[in-house]
Amino acid sequence: MKVLVLNCGSSSIKYQLIETEKKLKLAKGIVERIGMAGAVLSQKRFDGDNLKIAGEILDHTMAIEYVLSVLLSKTHGVISFKEEIEAVGHRVVHGGETFSDSILITDDVINVLRDNIELAPLHNPPNIKGIQAVKRILPDVPQCAVFDTAFHSNMPHKAFLYGLPYDLYKRYKIRRYGFHGTSHWYVSNKAAELMGKNFFDLKIITAHLGNGCSMAAIKDGKSIDTTMGFTPLEGLLMGTRCGDIDPSIITFLMSKEGLTLFEANTLLNKHSGLMGVSGVSSDMREILSALEDNDKKAKFAFDIFCYRIKKYLGAYSAAMGGLDAFVFTGGIGENSSKVRNEVCSDLEFLGIEIDIQKNNSQSEIISADSSKVKVFCLPTNEELVIATDTEKIVSGIKK
Ligand code: ADP
Repeated sequence: MKVLVLNCGSSSIKYQLIETEKKLKLAKGIVERIGMAGAVLSQKRFDGDNLKIAGEILDHTMAIEYVLSVLLSKTHGVISFKEEIEAVGHRVVHGGETFSDSILITDDVINVLRDNIELAPLHNPPNIKGIQAVKRILPDVPQCAVFDTAFHSNMPHKAFLYGLPYDLYKRYKIRRYGFHGTSHWYVSNKAAELMGKNFFDLKIITAHLGNGCSMAAIKDGKSIDTTMGFTPLEGLLMGTRCGDIDPSIITFLMSKEGLTLFEANTLLNKHSGLMGVSGVSSDMREILSALEDNDKKAKFAFDIFCYRIKKYLGAYSAAMGGLDAFVFTGGIGENSSKVRNEVCSDLEFLGIEIDIQKNNSQSEIISADSSKVKVFCLPTNEELVIATDTEKIVSGIKK
């Protein structure tokens, strides 16, 4: 089945057309600067053909029309008729407490997504826009939602409740939701497969380290805890997000600097993390190159980044009562041997031993043969999970 996978952001849409039987990515692209000057669509086809076109793309409907015209194009396309697209799968960030699994999108589902906007004000509105746009352009094609939160939806109360008055959880659904669930699920499954062991018998910690970063503790096939919380701000140090801080810092700063709610939010989400500490960049590649020049603040940023991962590794090993596998993924996890090396140093007591050569050469398994815990470096593939889930749901309704 050919499934169009969409990840709709406020001004961008990432897409992939995937042939699910062969797990083949026919085309992958992004439309950027939607609704702004200088909008552009870039696509890479499975055979290496590259395309970049600029145009006026006013909204999500126009953007998806553009995507379809490129997929259908005689020179750069991969399909001959739009009917070849049998389903559309959307990455939806927040399923709230309602959705613990991927689901066929109906009007009722859209209404629940709308109800959850308060929980994900930046992410759910563009997701809904994308769904509505597909409904207009491909009215007969079934659409499914695959939620970033779903894999974490079975965490125990002790992991998802905060130490706030319980009434606030009931009134406002303030709890830990966790994100990057599709990625944590995919790479933990892959690790179990590579170990030749049953996913449901293992204790695995996954670290998704991209622009956003999170870790998950996965015991017997279930996410039992994760570092991101009510929003993606909690936990690890990220590109521009601060991760864990003492909540009192916020009220202290608001009073000292006269910050508005909006300004405080922007400070924590956009001006902190690697960017805020280093003053160099939110991009790990630039932090690494500043380290070469002995940049002191870049070193602080790098150290905080790695230390926090190490700290959660210990915490989650304790939470699960042991550890069988540890997985690095995401742009930083997959590409930075220096980060992996630093995180895994001095952890022999936990059963973690890195093989320097395997780590440098980016093998799938980077732990030494003698390491009790297997350590992996695995590319994530959230789009494939979205396409496969969508295919399963759509095949079910077609029967
Ligand atoms: P997103 O979360 O937006 O999907 P990615 O998973 O692509 O992001 O990760 C982006 C991060 O990966 C950036 O911090 C970037 O610097 C980092 N990265 C990409 N390639 C490398 C590399 N070769 N070495 C170190 N970091 C890298």
